Amino acid sequence: MTLIVDTLKPDAAPLAPRASEEERTSLVGLDREGLADVLRQAGVAEKQIRMRVGQLWNWVYLRGATDIGEMTNVSRDLRERLAEVASLSEPEIVSEQISVDGTRKWLFRFPSRGAGRPVEVETVYIPEEGRGTLCVSSQVGCTLNCTFCHTGTQKLVRNLTAGEILQQILAARARLGDLPGRAPQDDAIVPSEGRLVSNIVMMGMGEPLYNFDAVKQALLIASDGEGVGLSKRRITLSTSGVVPMIPRTGEEIGVMLAISLHAVRDDVRDVLVPLNKRYPIAELLDACRAYPGLSNARRITFEYVMLKGVNDSPSDARELVRLLKGIPAKINLIPFNPWPGSDYECSDWDTIETFADVVNHAGYASPIRTPRGRDIFAACGQLKSASEKERASARRAAEKAAAEAV
Ligand code: SAH
Ligand code: SF4
Repeated sequence: MTLIVDTLKPDAAPLAPRASEEERTSLVGLDREGLADVLRQAGVAEKQIRMRVGQLWNWVYLRGATDIGEMTNVSRDLRERLAEVASLSEPEIVSEQISVDGTRKWLFRFPSRGAGRPVEVETVYIPEEGRGTLCVSSQVGCTLNCTFCHTGTQKLVRNLTAGEILQQILAARARLGDLPGRAPQDDAIVPSEGRLVSNIVMMGMGEPLYNFDAVKQALLIASDGEGVGLSKRRITLSTSGVVPMIPRTGEEIGVMLAISLHAVRDDVRDVLVPLNKRYPIAELLDACRAYPGLSNARRITFEYVMLKGVNDSPSDARELVRLLKGIPAKINLIPFNPWPGSDYECSDWDTIETFADVVNHAGYASPIRTPRGRDIFAACGQLKSASEKERASARRAAEKAAAEAV
């Protein structure tokens, strides 16, 4: 696709609409039909709808426009009518941290919806040779309480909307200079070739399959050939094992699947991933076997967090290999990332290597995932919204003060 990037014309001024934010529809998150509806509301004639939808799609999902006033190939009159019924917002960047290894973590704040309060979510960018992966959140908090996961200690505040999921991608691309016509910032550590955000993993806060509709809408938009334009093979959805939603993920979204397995026996997995009591390992693996489109080139990733003395013995490794027989699979061994107050320890390096040897021997290549961004608390399973952390530390301080007072 050839890209022609207009330099902004002088009349690209922000528009000040009369309707309040609440009354207007946010454009980010809408599919083509949704955009067509908004255009009809703005009075666009039916014969122009297709062309106008194409323009909006391009501004919102390719160029990452953050104001309707920027849309300079749309007449000023239509921009004004659009701004009456629709809005184009971006999240507030509460913080941006950059690790010594180039990993970046943002805390994004989204405005309140209805009676709710504003929410904050974390999004992480991991640059590697030839690729840049964005780790995106699907919920604020999580309803599942996996015992080794920091997010699991935070109650579910709410599901993110499709727009908020996409806004994490668009805002990260904007900060990295990964939008057409914008250069990377001087301080960005980025891959030396290819797109800066070349891969997306739904491995941030939350369980994506408990927010299926919004995640589906966001990923179908992100993988559309025009716009963000990432192939479905470069998008991975990670689930703790919501078995009934796995077939729909394959059929309706069609992205790569990752399963947080973490144990080979139900009694151990029941503790680590309590959802296992509802959907035990055998059922989970049956759903994996039936996942559409699997082949040696299109495998399911099994994530396995290495917990000292819990799930890391050579016999666990052999059982893992046995269980996965017949499923086109990749295994990712994740050294446990500790967080304050966690009950677990990471397995010793020798133990991880012995485990990896068994897995390698069975034909699975280089499975140990290097922890990234530990210094900025951005590694797997460490994400938790800052407001929650602050509330928890305020609570601890209050408890300490109360204890000292007696
Ligand atoms: N809820 C989804 C996706 C988010 S978690 C899921 O559970 O799959 C992303 C990955 O990080 C999961 O594999 C999760 O099990 C893992 N993880 C959670 N806490 C971790 C920790 N403290 N150390 C290492 N990995 C962790
Ligand atoms: Fe939720 Fe995934 Fe953490 Fe489990 S590992 S508590 S499902 S975010």
